[in-house]
Amino acid sequence: MKRAFAVIGLGRFGGSICRELTELGMDVMVIDKSEEKVNEYANLVSHAVVGNAVDETVLKGLGIRNFDHVIVAIGEDIQASILTTLMLKELGVQNITVKAQNDYHEKVLSKIGADAVVHPERDMGKRIAHNIVSNNVLDYLELSDEHSIVEIKASHKLDGRSIIDLDIRARYGITIVAIKRGKEIIVSPQASESIREKDILIVIGADSDINRFENKVMS
Ligand code: ATP
Repeated sequence: MKRAFAVIGLGRFGGSICRELTELGMDVMVIDKSEEKVNEYANLVSHAVVGNAVDETVLKGLGIRNFDHVIVAIGEDIQASILTTLMLKELGVQNITVKAQNDYHEKVLSKIGADAVVHPERDMGKRIAHNIVSNNVLDYLELSDEHSIVEIKASHKLDGRSIIDLDIRARYGITIVAIKRGKEIIVSPQASESIREKDILIVIGADSDINRFENKVMS
């Protein structure tokens, strides 16, 4: 079923979300106070509106509460981002995702009831840092301040060793939740599964434990 999304703010982040949602075949409405920005996206989406999101009558008039998900991608104007989120919440929008500019902004957004707060620059920075530090780390997803899911490329050091032989859970306190081997994906691999060089291990655990494992498998 087609779901309806509204994207408020068409900077690089909001614009990219809007393009991707359209590609996925979703109904998208965009709102930006800049006419130039709105014109840029007008041909792509079902509804493009020039308006100030801080104005409650604008949001009400657009029937914003009928959208399945609203993304607030107003960046620099933190006050406008907070006020917009607050109004969307008051108007009864079910799902609100907001882009945060800094940690303080993120805290306020969570307190006022944003369903998801994203911090793209910080998160991408962390992912790239992990990737730079270890060539074996392909991707990184933070679950909490201390836990992550990481994709690690198995080096020759692990080739032919089974999970039980490496005693990964006991020695490192982490769990291999899946192994990507070419096009095949082995979900919840058995302890007897042998790892091959170039396998991609998807591991979950505490960051410090994952780091110890990364150092061990570093080629
Ligand atoms: P990005 O990093 O995603 O490019 P940014 O964090 O630099 O964006 P801005 O450029 O400040 O964020 O804002 C993103 C968009 O939001 C802009 O196109 C701006 O016109 C729009 N915007 C800002 N405030 C409002 C508002 N109150 N109502 C509607 N649109 C707004």
